[in-house]
Amino acid sequence: MNVLLPQAIESEAIALLERENCAITTAPDPKPETVSPLIKDAHGLILRTGINITRDLIESADDLLVISRTGGGLDNVDVGAASDHGILVTSNLGVNSISVAEHVLAMMLALSKKLSTMDHAVRRSNFGIRYQNLPRDIYGKTIGLLGFGRIGCELGKICRQAFGMQVIAYDPYLTDEKKNECFSWVKMVELKELLEISDFISIHVPLTDETRNLVDEAELSLMKSDAILINASRGGVVNETALIKALEDRKISGAGLDVFSEEPVPDDNPLLKLENVILTPHTAALTRECVVRMATEAAKCVLDVFAGCEPQNIANPQVLESGRWKSRRAVEAEG
Ligand code: NAD
Repeated sequence: MNVLLPQAIESEAIALLERENCAITTAPDPKPETVSPLIKDAHGLILRTGINITRDLIESADDLLVISRTGGGLDNVDVGAASDHGILVTSNLGVNSISVAEHVLAMMLALSKKLSTMDHAVRRSNFGIRYQNLPRDIYGKTIGLLGFGRIGCELGKICRQAFGMQVIAYDPYLTDEKKNECFSWVKMVELKELLEISDFISIHVPLTDETRNLVDEAELSLMKSDAILINASRGGVVNETALIKALEDRKISGAGLDVFSEEPVPDDNPLLKLENVILTPHTAALTRECVVRMATEAAKCVLDVFAGCEPQNIANPQVLESGRWKSRRAVEAEG
């Protein structure tokens, strides 16, 4: 079976695929024009974030069975087009939660303790900055989680246990079971309340039509002037122009951003000139440990599909009821 990698993945995952005799093709670059001819003969595709798998690309594939995301977000694959062509789409939820939560925490601490400002000051012989008392504690403050899924929940637990923070969350889709599980340490609130009372707001929702620009000018205007916004979900969830204005006008204190409206960030993006932000290049989940977990789980999903087993986290399970998959199952049953 042929597995296409629009971008390279970790050797541990390659070894898994090779052990099952998969033929692996790694695209020289993830541009659609490079990937398009390679997708034709692929049976499985392992997808990172460097390319959008559009309907056009999906229609270039003759035999594709599965598109397996290494991460949790599905905003760079046309799931509807994949479903129309009987192609399963899987994602990898949970394996990166702790790494993203740690990254967000690092941003919260770095912004509160003014690490970048302090570091620059020491290098410029401004030791006297210590008397300005610029750093802030995070202990006992309120963190508002916009989205209380796997990452939001993991982060909330750490904030509560390690820093005695009050944890509040807005997530209209949370099941009653999950609410009951967490009610002792997280308070579910409406979005307006979360924006108004949080000292830190961290965003952990998927990018969908509903969540695009979920945090816009009106939402930013409700935040406290000393609040910090962290976004390690997807750039499109925050209106970046409105955020830049709020940061420039000091309507909010600072922001930690791992994701942007355009990636890589263009050189003329005003964010690059702001001092009250910390920017990372979409690396929240890219720890050495996490990339191995994500790539091997994505490879396992592909191998499950090749072996006729149902992989985990299928985004379009209705595909399994299509004629293509029924006849595959019938062939496998015959042996
Ligand atoms: P998840 O599916 O476990 O949680 C998402 C939560 O968002 C769910 O509980 C859902 O109910 C909630 N939600 C959906 N729409 C909402 C809305 N309109 N308002 C409020 N809540 C809403 O996903 P996760 O693993 O926690 O990941 C969240 C997102 O983080 C992913 O979709 C992905 O885009 C992003 N992510 C980024 C990185 C990174 O490297 N920066 C890594 C992993 C994930």
